[in-house]
Amino acid sequence: MAEKIIAYRFDRLEETLSQLNKANCAIVAGGTDVMVMHKSRRGVPPKIPKPIIFIDHLPELKQVNQNGDDLHIGACCTYSELLRDPLIPIPLKKAIKTIAAPAIRNRGTLGGNICNASPAGDTLPLLYIYNAKLLLRSVNGDRIVPISDFIQGVRRVQREPNEILTEIILPSVLEEGAHVVFEKVGNRNADAIAKVGFAGYIRTNGTVIDDVRFAFGAVGPTMIRSVDIETKLLGKNLPLADGDISQVVVAFDKMIKPIDDQRSTALYRKTVALNLLRYFLTSSTHNQHI
Ligand SMILES: Cc1cc2nc3c(=O)[nH]c(=O)nc-3n(C[C@H](O)[C@H](O)[C@H](O)COP(=O)(O)OP(=O)(O)OC[C@H]3O[C@@H](n4cnc5c(N)ncnc54)[C@H](O)[C@@H]3O)c2cc1C
Repeated sequence: MAEKIIAYRFDRLEETLSQLNKANCAIVAGGTDVMVMHKSRRGVPPKIPKPIIFIDHLPELKQVNQNGDDLHIGACCTYSELLRDPLIPIPLKKAIKTIAAPAIRNRGTLGGNICNASPAGDTLPLLYIYNAKLLLRSVNGDRIVPISDFIQGVRRVQREPNEILTEIILPSVLEEGAHVVFEKVGNRNADAIAKVGFAGYIRTNGTVIDDVRFAFGAVGPTMIRSVDIETKLLGKNLPLADGDISQVVVAFDKMIKPIDDQRSTALYRKTVALNLLRYFLTSSTHNQHI
């Protein structure tokens, strides 16, 4: 006989938070990672060692709105919903279109991609360069954490058991003069886990670099970003001198330490990551106003 699983599905966020405070539960949003993580052999129901609490239907977690400069995205918006939303930045939509296939995009959520904290999570490089902040709520109140502090390692996040990620906040996402790119290298254009992910952001004042950010996915335990390296490019003129480009590439060459696995080799990953960076630094000269 199949084992019984206790499952909760409340109508409102407050009741959900209250239950999470009473008992340690496994949060299920779209379930596309949870179900894979707990899969059993064919025909046998998944084994989840804790009570389950569903959150994907909660209206408080499904809103997208612009508040001043900040874009607020509900953690349980599915990829398909985000693709339809006019407020979502085009580079993020580009990243979403590379995720899985439509059936998974109809279930999988942005909050799930963050809390799952896979090094190959496709939205993560962009969320890092957008300086995303995460709103976590519990019965004890709210707190806001930068995504780079929240994600601590492979499938490791800084979340208390009674907290829910409710919103992803993208500050100043529509800045004038900013040029943002996302690239994913996988076996296919979609429905493939990334071998390498890259996101780049550059904002110029005339030809002078005001702000620049890079993040790499799938080449380390978490996204690779270095504010120190980025700062060295501030105030430089476009087009960048070959020497400046090489300095940045060499600095990331030292930082990026990918692994060999069933999807790719460390050497391939590092070569492609650095090529994407070099291409971005060279081509952003021509794309300043996109
Ligand atoms: C066939 C297949 C293909 C896939 N392809 C890709 C791909 O190409 N790219 C990619 O990046 N991913 C891919 N994934 C992984 C997955 O679809 C995504 O990571 C998705 O965003 C997970 O969202 P979810 O809502 O289903 O998360 P869930 O499975 O519900 O949850 C994932 C984890 O996050 C926690 N969690 C979820 N939401 C919250 C919240 N709001 N607050 C606190 N904790 C929360 C859960 O407890 C769990 O630990 C694929 C998965 C499958 C099955």
